[in-house]
Amino acid sequence: MAETLLDLRHIYKTYDPDGKAPVPVLDDVSFRVEMGEYVAVMGPSGSGKSTLMNIIGCLDLPTAGEFYMADENVLAKSEAELSDLRNRMIGFVFQNFNLLPRETALENVALPLLYAGMGRKERLEKAREALDAVGLNDRAEFLPTQLSGGQKQRVAIARAMINRPRLLLADEPTGALDTASGRQVMELFRELNRDGVTVVMITHAPEIAENADRIVRILDGRIAEGGDGK
Ligand code: ADP
Ligand code: MG
Repeated sequence: MAETLLDLRHIYKTYDPDGKAPVPVLDDVSFRVEMGEYVAVMGPSGSGKSTLMNIIGCLDLPTAGEFYMADENVLAKSEAELSDLRNRMIGFVFQNFNLLPRETALENVALPLLYAGMGRKERLEKAREALDAVGLNDRAEFLPTQLSGGQKQRVAIARAMINRPRLLLADEPTGALDTASGRQVMELFRELNRDGVTVVMITHAPEIAENADRIVRILDGRIAEGGDGK
């Protein structure tokens, strides 16, 4: 029996920056992701994708709704519990890589292990293996400025996966890349998914979304296709 990793029920998010007129950004979003799935959330710019990613990633809270991750009630958790859940369960990949500019590729990859309290020698050893797995063992000592966009994103993927999270959550992971580098990133996602990692990839681009096994479409903050009760 498939086990559900993400279960979002009637999620609403409203922004009201100046306290005058609340703007609905997510409007009754419900969908589930089973363990081991590879899902793309696709929609045009401004449709609410990043808002949804921040909620799935436990970086932001919805205005209303219910959200369970591996049967844990996310919205009932404290800040500390949320950060623990994040560190245990989720690897993040962003459009602009979010690497520390003054640290080498190796140090960037090892960073989550530092937060996890692992000693330096073991940290760097594991980071080397992770860089190896994304084909960048010969770039370990390079700074981000000395790497191409595609290489930076592969460093970011190695960093995202170093704690062996169950979920890889990516927001426009190929958005800043040329076609060939984008294809490499898609190959890595496929490999990780084959190894059992659940992948949720957010994108505006149909040709990228097609790499996933299932597409959930979002339009104006609503699930247009592929949600629950579609
Ligand atoms: P996408 O990632 O699909 O481009 P976003 O989730 O970033 O969309 O944004 C969806 C909508 O929510 C946009 O209209 C955006 O202006 C609005 N929005 C996002 N974040 C905020 C915020 N912090 N305050 C006010 N409005 C926001
Ligand atoms: Mg976005």
